Amino acid sequence: MTDYITTIGLEVHAQARTASKMFDACSADYAGGEANTRTSVVSLGLPGALPVVNQHAIELAALSGLAINCSIHPQSVFARKSYIYPDLPKGYQITQYDQPLCGEGWIEIQDDNGNLKRAGIERLHIEEDTGRLVHGGDGSSLVDYNRSGVPLMEIVGKPDIASPEEARRYFQKLRQILMWIGVNNGDLEHGEMRCDANVSVRPSHQREYGVKVEIKNMNSFRAVERALAYEVQRQIKALEAGEAIIQETRGWNEALGITVGQRSKEFAHDYRYFPEPDIPPLVLDQAWIAARRAELPELPDARRARFEAEYGLSRQDADLLTIERPVADYYETAVQAAADGQGSARDVANWVVGELFRLLNDSGEPASRMAERMPPQHIAEILALLAKGGITRTVAKQVFEESFNSGINPEKIVSDRGLKQISDEGSLATIAREVIAANPKPVEEYRKGKTTAIQFLVGQIMKATKGQANPQAARTALETELSKDV
Ligand code: MN
Repeated sequence: MTDYITTIGLEVHAQARTASKMFDACSADYAGGEANTRTSVVSLGLPGALPVVNQHAIELAALSGLAINCSIHPQSVFARKSYIYPDLPKGYQITQYDQPLCGEGWIEIQDDNGNLKRAGIERLHIEEDTGRLVHGGDGSSLVDYNRSGVPLMEIVGKPDIASPEEARRYFQKLRQILMWIGVNNGDLEHGEMRCDANVSVRPSHQREYGVKVEIKNMNSFRAVERALAYEVQRQIKALEAGEAIIQETRGWNEALGITVGQRSKEFAHDYRYFPEPDIPPLVLDQAWIAARRAELPELPDARRARFEAEYGLSRQDADLLTIERPVADYYETAVQAAADGQGSARDVANWVVGELFRLLNDSGEPASRMAERMPPQHIAEILALLAKGGITRTVAKQVFEESFNSGINPEKIVSDRGLKQISDEGSLATIAREVIAANPKPVEEYRKGKTTAIQFLVGQIMKATKGQANPQAARTALETELSKDV
């Protein structure tokens, strides 16, 4: 069978979260009210209403462009894209066409062999979001214009993506970056970010790209991966059967797990693009662009690399600790807090990635709530108690969970409940004698030379002390008592 090469390019639409809309002062909080209560003459497209550019939206779009290594054009131009649909009251969308805000850039993603690669960005332009159709169960449809005019960025990727998995990682990476710089909350379910894909396949001996098909309606990372995997196989099967691929737009049907032809592909001339006469060209000087660049925080890739170098973390832990900015901030605050009590940066990473992530996950809490549920200072206290020999590892885990659930600080939990580590010889000798008396069989085995049997007896001491015995001291106490009786 012929080998095929898959080529994918993603077009991601992401809202820029501003207080007001792209071209007027009405609230952009479209989910926050009854249908059609966040509207204005501009966002309803009433005749004679004039758009005014939202400066904050331009700042956020430029910041986004810089975060994905794009150039910022000193001059860009708004354009009208005409089409007829009920969610678009003016009959055209204000967008940018031949002179977008941002030119070429790239993001770094992992390929299917685990290597890092750059996936190119063609451009980033600014536009306005549309309204939303609400379909009733009785076959009727209602339209809600609250979302109409919300600032939107379209980020067009180059056809640099080689598989459905890579496409998912590309989309995830873009979301991570836009959330990181505070431009978008990353809520895919409510459409804050949306993804369309162009996909083609070609036999590996063929040099030119195959015919590309556009896939729409992929509302989750999983949907992106599934839809593209389906589409790649569909195209390969068609080519194998000697059929031609038609350039068209297909919709992903989540329930059936298939893509369905919707319409033959539009071309740019179908949209009758022309410059928006009501908005002058957007001119940005170098000082303004430099100011945006100065606002950029340390980005996730750079922070991940620094975590590996500065704190000696594994690639995997550094990845997990930079998944969202609040997580990375939390981690570094905890590292600082723990430094006084001899807690190492790697210890902190282990507790955050292990226990804290597990507890957050079990309680269904987002990462943004982690500092409230488990203040970084509390992790530092646990590490200090461990370092001083105040508690055992087993007790530390219990205290961690209890502190997470109750909010009470670990030192108080340990002192209130008498959880301090037991390492004094007298108490341990007494417990060791009791354990020896209660477990004749392993004791006999030990005496016959099966030294590993002592592990079971150590376990019994831990059980009797609810994990509070110092395991090393418990072992010594047992060895002493066992040697006495011989
Ligand atoms: Mn668009």
